[in-house]
Amino acid sequence: MKKILLFGKTGQVGWELQRALVPLGSVIGVDTHSTEICGDFRDPQGVAETVRLIRPDIVVNAAAYTAVDKAESEYKLAYLINAASVEAIARETEALNAWFVHYSTDYVFPGTGDLPWDENDRPAPLNVYGETKLAGEKFIQQECSKYLIFRTSWVYAAKGNNFVKAMLRLATERHEISVVNDQFGAPTGAELLADCTAHAISIAMNKTDVTGLYHLVATGTTNWFEFAQLIFAEARKAGLTLAVQKINAITSDSYPTPAKRPLNSRLNTTKFTQKFGLTLPHWENGVKRMLAEVSTPASV
Ligand code: NDP
Repeated sequence: MKKILLFGKTGQVGWELQRALVPLGSVIGVDTHSTEICGDFRDPQGVAETVRLIRPDIVVNAAAYTAVDKAESEYKLAYLINAASVEAIARETEALNAWFVHYSTDYVFPGTGDLPWDENDRPAPLNVYGETKLAGEKFIQQECSKYLIFRTSWVYAAKGNNFVKAMLRLATERHEISVVNDQFGAPTGAELLADCTAHAISIAMNKTDVTGLYHLVATGTTNWFEFAQLIFAEARKAGLTLAVQKINAITSDSYPTPAKRPLNSRLNTTKFTQKFGLTLPHWENGVKRMLAEVSTPASV
């Protein structure tokens, strides 16, 4: 039986991976609160020691510093978690001849143009989060001979903090909400990411030449304003009472944030779908499912 070490087991993607990885082997999940073995990415030596102790066949890393705006004033911490610890784990993973499975972001790109970015396009992050995630990717590519890196975007899940839940909260508190309409990308469910990861791992076990970097997002494109509109419409359809009456579309320039965001976050997933023989669903499917689930009143 394969031994899988899962870092970041309680994040949006980590939580879904706890479910999706189970059929592949024995899953040992850790997070910042783990006491017996270190799962804290502020301690690169500690997480490296965890890999040495567990001796997994596959390391899956869903842990990350994901506070995009806060990262602008916490470069050292973001680098420690997104790059330095990733490097330390990558070295130990390679020493075991194991696989390293990791996630990265659309924020490695500068957001110019309107074509979907592919894996060969040159990254040029606009913010600290993107910079540190790109550094993590590079360490894996330098250190590991067997790795899967999945760049994804706009992740949401029923469990965790994300745009869908933030919008639902605001919509119950406010009559009017303003949302940017000039950043384009694809909302991608943590469930989809976890299921695709499990499928890709099962293929990788017999086919080491799938090693590499992949773009993995739902199909279709939207912007945050349209995404918010769909969230409110679906939530109402599912029976939620919302206070919001008016949604204003605004530009990113009129909504300054500490971290600059790319306007074009479209990712081309052709490499992933061809290599792993999968079809990716439209982004609306997963969002509608999640809203139906979170909006359903508890049954007696
Ligand atoms: P979450 O923010 O939901 O989860 C991140 C996890 O990392 C949490 O469990 C968090 O634990 C953990 N973490 C934070 N600090 C540390 C630390 N010092 N040591 C160990 N674990 C730590 O992120 P997602 O699940 O959404 O992200 C999964 C991957 O996808 C990440 O690589 C992320 O960069 C990438 N990604 C995410 C996007 C998004 O929109 N969320 C978009 C594009 C890519 P705790 O809660 O205890 O702090």
